[in-house]
Amino acid sequence: MKHFRVGSRWPLALAALFFAAVLLPTPCTARKLNVVTSTTDMAALAEEVGGDKITVEALAKGYQDPHFVEAKPSFLLKLRNADLLISVGLQLEIGWLPPLITQCGNPRIQVSAPGYLDASQFAEILDIPSGQITRAMGDVHPLGNPHYWLDPDNGRRIARGIAQKLGEMDTADSQYFQQRFQDFDRRLTAAEKNWDAEMAPFRGQKLVTYHTSWSNFARHFGLQILGYIEPRPGIPPTPAHTLEIIQLMKRDSIKVVVVEPYFDLKTPNSIGTATGAKVIVLLPSVGGEKQVTDYFKLFDYDINLLTQTFKATQ
Ligand SMILES: [Zn+2]
Repeated sequence: MKHFRVGSRWPLALAALFFAAVLLPTPCTARKLNVVTSTTDMAALAEEVGGDKITVEALAKGYQDPHFVEAKPSFLLKLRNADLLISVGLQLEIGWLPPLITQCGNPRIQVSAPGYLDASQFAEILDIPSGQITRAMGDVHPLGNPHYWLDPDNGRRIARGIAQKLGEMDTADSQYFQQRFQDFDRRLTAAEKNWDAEMAPFRGQKLVTYHTSWSNFARHFGLQILGYIEPRPGIPPTPAHTLEIIQLMKRDSIKVVVVEPYFDLKTPNSIGTATGAKVIVLLPSVGGEKQVTDYFKLFDYDINLLTQTFKATQ
């Protein structure tokens, strides 16, 4: 190993250190937290509380079925650079996310690491099965309904949890995240008043939906979902089950069928034809349509379409 000649090299080394300290950005304080979320809804909520102190990107698109997302190589790159990964949990992403977490080689976001946040811990969860249910039976909701963000009260709980987490990871900005949450909470409460008022005339309305995405939404707004076009969550429609749904809709005078944007409309439309019901595509996620760019616009869109449909079918 070569030895420095102290007399001549030290001033250079000191100058280099000085310039590094003065001219280079300081990584600990100036860098934004890099947040990656499995879905657009978690990204929208993270954005509400994270503001300009974080960057946030969702892996799945808002018009994709979050149960079945095709993993792309770009996902690995995003996960490799993430400080925090927020998932919906309850096995919503079990078909695609776990192998990506393992393969990305980022120790910060492994499931047991501090940079992994399962948002379901904050939410009120419905449809928790009482008997033994396994995915082998085709059920994609074995731990309860993972579409819980479709109740604004859960959106508030998730946002509070994310703000708390961001504050733990970036303690210098924890006040900022808390203030952003307070502001989101105020705006959400105001919006909820309007949504509740718009939906109030339609409390008790009966629906059939394709997938069981709407349990939390229906409970919040007082709607009754009496049947599903899927015989079980994740299982495609069968002729026998479709016939049962048609009979149920005729018997209970159900006039509205709700379909998520990623399902084939063939069976819903045939049910609509057989029963005279209206078939509408409601959005379960931010980004389901171009103009639905945040958590508020998601409810604006769905409530507007639903109320129009209820008025037209009465
Ligand atoms: Zn589902």
